[in-house]
Amino acid sequence: MTPTYMATESKILKMKTALEQALDNEEFVLYYQPQINLETAKVSGVEALVRWNHPQLGLISPDKFITVAEKTDLINRLGRWVLNRACRENQAWQNLGFPLMTISINLSPFQLQDPNFKDMVKQILEQSELPPTCLELEITEEAILAHPEMTHQTLVNLKQLGVYLSLDDFGSGYSCLNYLSRLPFGTVKIAQSCIKNLTNDYHNISLVSVILAVGKTLDIRVVAEGVETQQQLETLKNLHCREMQGYYFTQPLTSEEITKFFSLYER
Ligand code: C2E
Ligand code: MG
Ligand code: MG
Ligand code: MG
Repeated sequence: MTPTYMATESKILKMKTALEQALDNEEFVLYYQPQINLETAKVSGVEALVRWNHPQLGLISPDKFITVAEKTDLINRLGRWVLNRACRENQAWQNLGFPLMTISINLSPFQLQDPNFKDMVKQILEQSELPPTCLELEITEEAILAHPEMTHQTLVNLKQLGVYLSLDDFGSGYSCLNYLSRLPFGTVKIAQSCIKNLTNDYHNISLVSVILAVGKTLDIRVVAEGVETQQQLETLKNLHCREMQGYYFTQPLTSEEITKFFSLYER
């Protein structure tokens, strides 16, 4: 064992204990980012994004702790918390009189390998009394690549619950069109990296056009992610992209803030 390896190991163990405590102390929070349908000018969905609200350090982004949670098996416990909170929050918004909407949560590839995952989703939907069509599970291409056969079966099983499935960050990796036609995805999200240089990069414009065309042919909803500028919005509109998400509309918001956003947008 090299000294660096040992240092990393002990760092991971420390972080694991901290994450466990954070789960016990309910230090995680969900932020919500709306997806806007430009045609109807309405919110078409909301993505839940987890943060760790550390008592001393403040809000910590998921990029800083998801990997450790995955390495230490805590991801299933954290994932369960996220799912439960997102379903309950969505139900609460409906009880406040906001229209039925779909909430998306992000799944780690590790969650898909948990044989109890489907039963857990079923149980949480029942307990929160949320219709399955009000829940969407976002999966990245990496998750499929890691275990193609098993993931395929898991996705088919999950689809049977009536939830929606979304392919996240499409266009950032291999962008295998095969997945879109063979797996039961209802949504594909165009990766931020494609949108970033959209206005001056012909390669990205072609890629986005292809994704939109495939979405249309297969009747899959296409959402552009990470839309920040008016210029990106105009380019996407010209390519007939209808649904978008990004800082141009708003950063991810707290539950309280997003209900205010809903009220503004509906009027
Ligand atoms: P993602 O699912 O692709 O989420 C989009 C990320 O882009 C979010 O970062 C969001 O805050 C950010 N974003 C949104 N609009 C814009 C924009 O216009 N410009 C830019 N530059 N960024 C924008 P966040 O919240 O830090 O999450 C990062 C990643 O962490 C997510 O990527 C997702 O893969 C993962 N993640 C977040 N929440 C969860 C969770 O509950 N469970 C799991 N397993 N992973 C999660
Ligand atoms: Mg996502
Ligand atoms: Mg994404
Ligand atoms: Mg991502």
